Amino acid sequence: MQLKEKLIILADSAKYDASCSSSGSMRKNNKGIGNAAFSGICHSFASDGRCISLLKILMTNCCIYDCKYCLNRKSNNIKRATFTPEEICAITINFYKRNYIEGLFLSSGIIKNANYTMELLIKTISLLRNKYHFNGYIHAKAILGADQMLVKKLGLLVDRLSANIELPTSDSLKLLAPNKNQNQVNDIMQYVHDHKDEKFVPSGQSTQMIIGATAESDLQIMQQSEKMYHNYSLKRVFYSAYIPINNDKLLPALKLPPLKREHRLYQADWLLRFYNFKVSDLLDLENPNFNILIDPKANWALKHLELFPKEINTASYHELLQIPGIGEKSAKRIISSRKHFKITFKDLKLMGVVLKRAKYFIICDGKYFANTNLFNKRFIESNLILEDKSPNTHNYQQLSLFNG
Ligand code: SF4
Repeated sequence: MQLKEKLIILADSAKYDASCSSSGSMRKNNKGIGNAAFSGICHSFASDGRCISLLKILMTNCCIYDCKYCLNRKSNNIKRATFTPEEICAITINFYKRNYIEGLFLSSGIIKNANYTMELLIKTISLLRNKYHFNGYIHAKAILGADQMLVKKLGLLVDRLSANIELPTSDSLKLLAPNKNQNQVNDIMQYVHDHKDEKFVPSGQSTQMIIGATAESDLQIMQQSEKMYHNYSLKRVFYSAYIPINNDKLLPALKLPPLKREHRLYQADWLLRFYNFKVSDLLDLENPNFNILIDPKANWALKHLELFPKEINTASYHELLQIPGIGEKSAKRIISSRKHFKITFKDLKLMGVVLKRAKYFIICDGKYFANTNLFNKRFIESNLILEDKSPNTHNYQQLSLFNG
């Protein structure tokens, strides 16, 4: 099989793994080509084949497992291909030199067994680093069930490692991916957490969770994320809306991926990581799922209207962050500007505040944006619903390396 044909198959097979966005690594380049530091890496290809800038491929789409939700599962009748380590190096270096990419995301189906597959990943990345002196960003997927020694070897070669949790609970994993278990994921995450330094997985670890393939609530999903952030200092949990590509009686009968739900989970995840929210602030057993019509922060604020409206000129930084439409940057701008003048609604717009959401929850120099009779849940809620612009499920499209 020609290399180009393999690339088409294995780049296409890799697109379902969402766990490869990356933050910059600070690992320096002392010799060779490429540099992981300041690379500003993202993770997609445009439809004309132009890379935006990680090469995201599988080593092979052959797999001995039969995870129900996966295109590459062994029971699917699809075209299979396998790269040799040298082929991956050749493509990576070639694409890098052409300025298509700044780095590599490498994952793989399982061939023979977990250790054998990990050894192939290690061999490939070792060649890239040591023979081709490639110092660019590399994110690899750790193969669940592989020996700790192999995790250690791989972690010393890459910038970021991800062990994919795949599904929110052990029971779901047992149901849809019976060859995997959460202990295997936890073991890798724990090892990376305990050994991370400037040489071992310097950009930290991430994971991917598929949303909507099983019956868990948003509460269960977010509790799992909160636990992983807390226990293993994960950089990111990636939520991947379940894409209905296989027929199986164990899978839900969805026609389209639950993209809006995925979007709400990302918004809530952001609140956990940067805004000091806890899952218990956002969801509980009585309300275990996010309001699909209103973003989680606005939903929280609506439930706590007794805390609002807040005076912009006196609210603390933490209080400003709780206001829908105010982010970290705008909160900092407000704090520094109000030392010099009284802030008005007009000033807020210039500071990056999303006024169409924030205006319901604030007062500026004693003034509400409208008649204060309008400060009531019904009015605010209906206006927020009208203004919500999150993605709708009819626009779903995967990026492809070789479209057209
Ligand atoms: S291990 Fe499961 S999810 Fe991964 S490639 Fe194989 S079948 Fe797909």
